Amino acid sequence: MSVLMEVKNLKTYFNTEAGLVKAVDGVSYHINENETIGIVGESGCGKSVTQLSTIQLIATPPGRIVEGGVFFEGRDILKLEKNGQEMRSIRGGKISVIFQEPMTSLNPVMTIGRQLTEAIELHLKMTKEDAKKRAIELLDLVGIPSAKQRLSDFPHQFSGGMRQRVMIALGLSCNPRIIIADEPTTALDVTTQAQLLKLMQDVVREFKASLVIVTHNLGVVARYVERIYVMYAGRIIESGSCKDIFAHPRHPYTMGLLRAVPRLNEPKGKKLVPIVGLPPNLLNMPDTCAFLPRCPYAVEKCRQIPWPELRTLENGVHQTACHLDF
Ligand code: SF4
Repeated sequence: MSVLMEVKNLKTYFNTEAGLVKAVDGVSYHINENETIGIVGESGCGKSVTQLSTIQLIATPPGRIVEGGVFFEGRDILKLEKNGQEMRSIRGGKISVIFQEPMTSLNPVMTIGRQLTEAIELHLKMTKEDAKKRAIELLDLVGIPSAKQRLSDFPHQFSGGMRQRVMIALGLSCNPRIIIADEPTTALDVTTQAQLLKLMQDVVREFKASLVIVTHNLGVVARYVERIYVMYAGRIIESGSCKDIFAHPRHPYTMGLLRAVPRLNEPKGKKLVPIVGLPPNLLNMPDTCAFLPRCPYAVEKCRQIPWPELRTLENGVHQTACHLDF
């Protein structure tokens, strides 16, 4: 499998009145062609900021990408001018984002048809007529009944699940190579979540694109992703194949996330165990492992030496940022 995008040592900091927040602090990962990956972690761990940084969508100030590179199609796209034509044609064209809340991403006073055709005309240079045909095909593809008629409807005329389908259609409208879905189904009920994730998986396969699912819920991604990166306090603390991570998590934080996920093969009535404590304050980060105050396995060494770097385990793929072997 060849690498489609590689993020290297990305650091995004925010200057706040209270001090410097290192929201993303040395994150590296890659996405292969035709692959689905999951970026998982609690709210505030830096997973969304990482994704927004890769397409230069961080508001400056207060945010700033201070280091790192994002290599896509043979060059570092962080070196492109943020609002220049090249970066704009990558953002929304070759790399598209599906956000959690469609009502804030869709224009409430523009019909769905216009929003779709505008994006298609801009990025694919199609005529109005062809763009309209394409918009109908896309709405059909994402399961919106009577697609042709619905082109003239406004976002508020769709249900939550249908709006998210429209967002997926919009995300696909420019034949992207990478789709970033940031908590794409969080606001929806469990059945609609499953339908939409399956739909995303199917259309991404059909389009031969790659998909990045960003979520706080490890359970959500289990059936859809090939590899997982787990983030904590602005860093990746474990990565590996979905199978390895579910079968044998190697970092206590990932173990905690898994214990909080219901599993079908466990006895009925088994209690889910939340991770105790709160994520660290990014304004006041310790030198030692950031998970230390919440870690049930911490030993003296964890209190003495700095936060470990990611290390590769025996299978050559799985990585953990923990001093201990599990
Ligand atoms: Fe827990 Fe120590 Fe591993 Fe951190 S390094 S996760 S404190 S065992």
